[in-house]
Amino acid sequence: MTYILSANVILNNTAKKVDHFTLSYLYDPSQLLDIEQIAQTKFTNTVPSQFSFGYVDGTTWYKITLKNQSDTEEFVLSFLEPFSDVLNLYRQKDGIFVKSKSGLDVPLDEREVYDSNPTFNLHIKKGQTKTYYIEAHSKFSSAGEFVIYAKDAYATQGKPLFIGAYMFYFGSLFIVILFNLFLFITIKERIYAYYTAYTFFYALFILVLSGFDLYFGYESLHEHFHIVTPLVMVFLVLFSSYFLQTKVFYPKLFKLLMANVLVYAMLVPLVFITVDPWIKVANTITTFTFILLIIIAIMTIKKGFTLAKYYLFIMLIYISSLGLMSSVLMGDIPNTHFNRYIFILASYLEIISFSLILAKIYSQTKSAAERDPLTGLYNRRYFSNIADKNLKLSKKHKQAFSILMIDIDLFKNVNDTYGHQAGDEILIQLSHKLIEISRVQDIISRHGGEEFIILLPNTNIAKATKVANNIRQEVEDMQLNIHSGETLNITVSIGVSQSIFGDNLSIEKIILDSDINLYQAKENGRNQVYSV
Ligand code: GH3
Ligand code: MG
Ligand code: MG
Repeated sequence: MTYILSANVILNNTAKKVDHFTLSYLYDPSQLLDIEQIAQTKFTNTVPSQFSFGYVDGTTWYKITLKNQSDTEEFVLSFLEPFSDVLNLYRQKDGIFVKSKSGLDVPLDEREVYDSNPTFNLHIKKGQTKTYYIEAHSKFSSAGEFVIYAKDAYATQGKPLFIGAYMFYFGSLFIVILFNLFLFITIKERIYAYYTAYTFFYALFILVLSGFDLYFGYESLHEHFHIVTPLVMVFLVLFSSYFLQTKVFYPKLFKLLMANVLVYAMLVPLVFITVDPWIKVANTITTFTFILLIIIAIMTIKKGFTLAKYYLFIMLIYISSLGLMSSVLMGDIPNTHFNRYIFILASYLEIISFSLILAKIYSQTKSAAERDPLTGLYNRRYFSNIADKNLKLSKKHKQAFSILMIDIDLFKNVNDTYGHQAGDEILIQLSHKLIEISRVQDIISRHGGEEFIILLPNTNIAKATKVANNIRQEVEDMQLNIHSGETLNITVSIGVSQSIFGDNLSIEKIILDSDINLYQAKENGRNQVYSV
């Protein structure tokens, strides 16, 4: 009969860990049935050992019949999800049922096995068959996975692997957090503060979701810790709006994002006081926020803001993986290891990628005092400083460096035709283009107005002229988008000069040379490079 088959797990010597089996279950919406009544009831439904019922109000009873054909008698039954408020195992002893509690309703040190996931010791004599009943209730999702280990395998692989994987994850997040915190302190750029806070709360989110917080002994607070969800969203939205420069490109959408931030901020105390229903409200708004962020990212790419492409790519992977995880918890898709846990890998990649991108953008500058507020490039004062140091170095190492003086052609017309805001948007887009196409060691600065200067260390004038021509071409090919929705093109003229290590040229003189050459490029008809 299928009934017997569905309820049976055979333990033998080859399997140290038994998973992916089938067990029978019984759903009690009234929550009134007790173990005596349950034991009298025939279980007719079956479910895979890794399953999800989504959010359900009632109590679910599971029945597992184990037949021991192995040489050992000690086993462990583990339920690999921490968030059941009730998870009790009933085993029969001398004809009566004995209950063992291992849900959130008991602290870890009162459970029979000290594990954040409900875990029980099973003693089954060789050749014996035993039946266990599990009573489960969760205010969160009724999803999880039952696994049976031989006791030594649980001690050497089951728990240590689980803890090891999470420790590695938290350890590396911790390094990323420290790194970004350090950048925030040295660079004093707001985006780092947002990003650091986002990563921090995200780490806490994983901590709560994985049940690791239980090891710190605040079982009674576990529910309240769900405030990390709205907190993660507050900082993700702040970070995104600064990353995508929404304030500049789409002032109205920026306001919408800030309103969104406010809603999440208000949800923090609400979730703290009553998790249900506020966490569901927060989760629902999250879907809306993600859609909004994706739309803004696409619109920003259309404006020619290349960094938004990276943002979109990373976020699409991240959001889909989060979608899989929450669909599992909602019971909408099968609970598989991939669906349930891939978001941990995806979020890991997301966090590392964003950190690298931020480092790439802001490695250009060390502190706000050194930076031009509109474009984020070095300002003129800092540039003279660093150029002077380069001159000394180049004299010492007998290497030439070159300077490109770049000026947008007829920029006044752009301002006059499309307005000052459009002009600003173009300056930002051009700056990002310059960052994108330059090498890490190049120093890009906004020399003033619509003039940019790039120092190319260890580069002679012939090479620098090639670089300049490449920049000129790239800018000519660029599609610039402005807030009105119009697309336009610009061109630049570039003057090139170089330091010659034999000479006793001052940095001012080298810059002046490039300026004279720039003037010549303009004289010759603009959209060109002049370097002699
Ligand atoms: P040319 O090809 O000879 O360089 O012509 P041009 O119009 O670019 O040069 P000009 O020096 O006559 O004008 C530069 C204009 O750049 C003047 C000003 O409107 C604009 N500009 C300078 N700084 C900014 C800024 O921060 N934002 C905006 N929107 N425009 C700026
Ligand atoms: Mg100009
Ligand atoms: Mg000018």
